[in-house]
Order: sequence, then structure tokens, then C-alpha cells
Amino acid sequence: MVMANPSEIFGSHVFDLRTMKKRLPKETFKALKSAIENDEKLGLADANTVAHLMMEWALARGATHYTHLFQPMTGLTAEKHDAFFNFDYQFGSIEGFTGKELIQGEPDASSFPSGGMRTTFEARGYTAWDPSSPVYVMINGDVTVLCIPSVFFSYTGHALDKKTPLLRSNKALNREASRALKLLDGRDVKVEASVGVEQEYFLVDKKYFDQRPDLVMAGRTLLGCPPAKGQQMDDHYFGSIKDRVLSCMEEIETRLYKLGVPCKTRHNEVAPHQFEMAPIFEPANLAADHNQLVMEVIKKVARGRGLAALFHEKPFAGVNGSGKHINWSMQTSDGANLLEPGKEPHRNLVFLYFLVAVLSAVHKRGGVLRSTIASPGNDHRLGANEAPPAIVSVFLGSHLSKILDQILAAEKLTQSVVASIDLGLAQLPEIRVDTTDRNRTSPFAFTGNKFEFRAVGSSQSVSFPITVLNAAVVESLNEMNDELEKIGQIGEKSILKLLRTYIRRSQPIRFEGNNYSAEWAEEAARRGLPNLKTTPEAFSVWQDPDVRAFVIRTGFLNEQEMDSRYHVRMEHYCNILSIEAVLTLRLVNGHVLPPCFRAQKEVADSISAVKAMGNAALAESLSNQEEFLADLTSNIGHLLVKRNNLQACLDEVIAMEDEVAKAHAFAQQVAPLMGEVRNYCDQLELVVDAEAWTLPSYHELLFLM
Ligand code: ADP
Ligand code: MG
Repeated sequence: MVMANPSEIFGSHVFDLRTMKKRLPKETFKALKSAIENDEKLGLADANTVAHLMMEWALARGATHYTHLFQPMTGLTAEKHDAFFNFDYQFGSIEGFTGKELIQGEPDASSFPSGGMRTTFEARGYTAWDPSSPVYVMINGDVTVLCIPSVFFSYTGHALDKKTPLLRSNKALNREASRALKLLDGRDVKVEASVGVEQEYFLVDKKYFDQRPDLVMAGRTLLGCPPAKGQQMDDHYFGSIKDRVLSCMEEIETRLYKLGVPCKTRHNEVAPHQFEMAPIFEPANLAADHNQLVMEVIKKVARGRGLAALFHEKPFAGVNGSGKHINWSMQTSDGANLLEPGKEPHRNLVFLYFLVAVLSAVHKRGGVLRSTIASPGNDHRLGANEAPPAIVSVFLGSHLSKILDQILAAEKLTQSVVASIDLGLAQLPEIRVDTTDRNRTSPFAFTGNKFEFRAVGSSQSVSFPITVLNAAVVESLNEMNDELEKIGQIGEKSILKLLRTYIRRSQPIRFEGNNYSAEWAEEAARRGLPNLKTTPEAFSVWQDPDVRAFVIRTGFLNEQEMDSRYHVRMEHYCNILSIEAVLTLRLVNGHVLPPCFRAQKEVADSISAVKAMGNAALAESLSNQEEFLADLTSNIGHLLVKRNNLQACLDEVIAMEDEVAKAHAFAQQVAPLMGEVRNYCDQLELVVDAEAWTLPSYHELLFLM
């Protein structure tokens, strides 16, 4: 199949501004555009017109239903479909869709987590269209549904979702960033966060996936002996992509282009069967919605092709896990990137101002940022020498570091010369190197004209990390702007003086070295940077009065919304660990012990059989087999002990009443015991007949496709 040019199909399934301009009456289009741009409410008459034309557009594409799509606190996307179909006894059946139906939906919300904000008897939840994210039709086989990106809130007006806080933080960022620009150089523009999300994932053959209850239910392998060959040959990263995967990627991209997702990059990642895709950056809200779509489309297309896509942060032990990189910057309404250093960063005061604001933000709120990416899956990655550590620090590169150091020392600002590289090949054009080299070990790195938050988990929604990053920058900009406002004569000297204070204060967050090293953990402790190793530890920041004040002040969550998220995530953590522990026990009982017992019997039988022959010389040579049997028996014995310990510990922890103590017990007691059980299982897998081992092996999962 020859793929259509992306530019021809791009957005063809989206009712975007271009389509609206073509289809809506002029006045209605104007009203809608202004509502979107100025965050105003759309009048009901206009909403009715928009809804009707939207429906006609969707019907023409085969849609029968519509759904308000929202992002509850589970981190997933939720949908409930309603038919356009209406029935009236007098006039018969007809398709219809009103402005009211477009603007607001009312799913029964009692089964979504609310963290105590909404009891079951007050189950009302509402969804409302977020016009800054356009509606689109999702076509799956012969079913087409009109999808309406929405916020989700309770009867009492509390946000129950991940989109509302993001929208609030975007608004606040616009306020403070445009205020800064007005003060710095009199520019009157709007500012929004721009985000590009790189997404990593694994693909495995579905026939093996289906036979692994742990992959099906927990998204990761809870047992499994690493294969003889893992990623040590470095032969997968950027390797040539297998045909089956490539054609799957092409279908994924075709679907995403139609849905208006600007896919740009695809490649093999470090681990076998691991891949990455990245779209071109977009406004934060749209990028977050699109990342949810990316994951959904990858999953669906893979399934249709007999593959299973894994988004878990650590599906396999012994090979790299998956993450997401949130590339983040700020863009003005007239198209300028505020983190673009330009040719002369040392003279670019606006750039330096925003750069320092981000540094201060990450310094002050590194712990909160860390908590936004805490999850049971990410606990396996962070600090495991493949992903950034749980300590948040910022990498700037020598070029910018030098400029900031000069400001700090009140020296004359100069710029290091950017080298060009001479390979000794005259036919190549002059090659300029970037102003920063890469430091893959840093969790938060400046990469040319944007920051890259690299410690984000591959399965999580990006909404909350972006929300907190926005809010942290709002906080530092607000403080800096207040001080700037007090200065009578704003000029280079006074700005640099202000920056000096902030550069000095945020110095501990800057680190250019190897973030994987043990020395860095010690150094970070000396600098007073938090090192929150497990999810429950990371969540503890939400109880800190200073953090709570920051959240309320920047306004992305109110007190109740904040507490509800804390409870929801704590509970989610405990649920996941409990599911994994139960699954581990079942795998041991149903999949590991039976072939081990059979192997034990086979070896014992063969020893007896040889002995029964009555040949003394032969019987004497049995010592190695007897040793093998002794090892096997001892490992089975150890496994039984560990299994019983895990069961007993799990029973105790599940019965605990206190939420916080329970989560910590899962992290500190249950998780390590699961690891011990796994060790024995993996050792046994090595000595048992591969044919008899019922769980597909890492070899099958990671090398056969
Ligand atoms: P790498 O991290 O390997 O350099 P890319 O060059 O592919 O990866 O860029 C990563 C992501 O950063 C892409 O999604 C890209 O669109 C995004 N990006 C580039 N510029 C900006 C920006 N100003 N704001 C936000 N994201 C950006
Ligand atoms: Mg990157």
C-alpha cells in the first residue's frame, strides 16, 4: 500500500478551525473563534448552530454516536457514547444534536475515583466541551464516533479530571509570562506553553502476550529470566526497523495524521522490541490530548495486527524500561519562542529572564515535580541507571552555564565561540555543533531552545507534570515580575541585578555531571535536594504546608481537589501493588511450581532407574545428577518459603487501615518480597525443560515477531 502524503490527509477527521470556517455562518464562526481565543462562553444560539453543522459533518463520515471524552483521575481516557438518534411518537425518528448536548454531558460519575470529593449518593458528574481542543471522528472498523474533548467536574464544581488543572495553569502562565514581556520590552502578546511528547513503547507478538497473565493484567512481566542476549550489543537503538513493525507504525501514523496529530519521528529504541515516536510540538493542552490519542491508536493498531503494545515503565527486567520526554517551552502569540537563545544569548535579556525563571521554578518545586511522575511503574525505572534518578536537577550545558556564572560574578558577559567541526572531508558543508552537548542522564535538561523533562513515565498522562511545571514557572515569574515592577528604571543593569539573586538562589539545582553516579546522590543530599525514592515518599510532598500554599496560590487546584488527588493516587498505588502481589502468587502456584515438580520427579525417577539396574559403576557416576536434584529441590523449597512469606505479608498489609502506612508497607515489604520470589522463579526457569515451562519466555517476547 502506498501511503498518502501526510499533508493531504492531515486533520481530515478533525472539525478544526479550517473546517469550521468553511462550514459555519460567518457570525457564528467569529463568535466561536473569539470564545476560544478569549476563553469566553459560547452563546446558546451559536452553540446550536455549531452543534448542528458538526453533526452533519460527522454523519457524512459515518458517525452514529457522539461522546464527551474526558480524563478522569485514573490517568486514562473515559467515554460514554450517546446516539444522535432521536425518536418522537408523532414525527418518527430523526438525528439531532443540540448546542446544549455539545456543550455539556452528564455521565453518571460514581465509579470514577474522586478521592472522597463525591460520595456515591451524590454521583453527579458533568463533562463540558473544551473548545480549545477540536472535536474529531474516531473510526474503528465500521464504527464511527464523534469525540468531544471535555473537562470533567462534580455537582459542587470541583475538578475531577486532569484537563481542568492544566487549563488553569495555562491561563496563569499566560498571565505572568505576558506581564513579564510587557515589563521587559513593552511587548503586548499572549503566551502559551508549547509541548512535544516523545513516547516510548514495546511491541510483542500477541500470541505470546496472551499467554502471560502478568502482561495482560499488570502490563509487565512479574517473572522471567533475562535472555542470554539483551541490549548489551547496542544493536537495536536506531537499528533498521522490522517490516512488520514498520508497516504497523505507518498505519499508526496514517490514523494519527487524520486525527490531526503531527507525527514526525519514529525509531527503534535501546531495548529489543522497544520503539519511540514523537510528534511536532503543539500548545500544551492539545499536546496532552494528542498524547492520549497516540497511546490509544498505537494500542488499537497493534492489536489489529496481532501485536500487543506495552506502555508500562518496566515491562521486562534486565533491559531498559520506557519513558516519555516532555519537551517544554513558551511561545508568544506572534510566534516567538521565549527559550530561544538566538545568536547572542548573553545579550538576550528576555531569554535569560525566562531561563532563570525556569531554573528557579525547578529548584523550588523539584520535589513536587518529582511527585507528579511517581507511579508504581516508574519506581522500577527512576534511579535504576537507565533513567534519570529520583533527584531532580537541571542540565544547562557549558555554554549557558558560563553566561549565568558571569552574571553571578558580575563579570562582563561574553559568549563562548561555538565550534564548527572539521571531518577532513571537503565535500561536506561546514558542520556546526549545538551550543549544548547532550547529557542523557539529566532528568531536566536544556536542549537548545526548550527544556526536556525526561523522567516522566511512559504510561502516564502528561497533563499533571505539565500543569505543575507551568505552575512552578508561574510562581517564580510572579515573584520576579513583582520585583521588576518595583524598579523605577528597568534597564540591562537592573535586570541583571535581579537575575543575579535568582541565579544564586537556584544554584543547587544545576548539575552538569553524571546523574547516575553514587557521588551525585551524596552531593545532592549535601545541596539539600530531595531524593524521594518510592511513590509513597514522593506523594508525601502534598502534605507539606509550603507546597499546599504554592498550589492554592497558583490556583491550579483548590484544597479539596488537591487532597482528592493525593488519596486517589495513594489508593491507586496500593491497588496496583496488591494486584501484582496476588498475580505473582498465582503465577508461582499455577505456572512455576507444576513444571518444577515434574522436573524434580523426572530427575528422581531417572536416578532411581539407573540405580535399579544394579550396576555399581553406573550408580557411582550419578553424583552430579544427585547434586542437580538437590539444587532443584532446595530452590523449590526456598521458593515455597518465600511464597508463604509473601502471602502472609500481603494479608497483613491489605488489612492495614492507615492509608499512608499501608502504601509504605507495600513499598518496603511487599515489593521486595515479590523480588525475592521472582529470583527463585527465574533460577528455576533456567533448569526446567523449556517445553514444559508454560509462560512464554523473554526470548519469545523480545526476539520473535
Ligand atoms: P531530541 O530530544 O532527540 O532532540 P527531537 O529533536 O525529535 O528530539 O525533539 C523532541 C521534541 O521536542 C519534538 O516533539 C519537538 O517538536 C519538540 N520541540 C521542539 N521545539 C520545541 C519547543 N519550542 N517547545 C516544545 N517542544 C519543542
Ligand atoms: Mg529527546
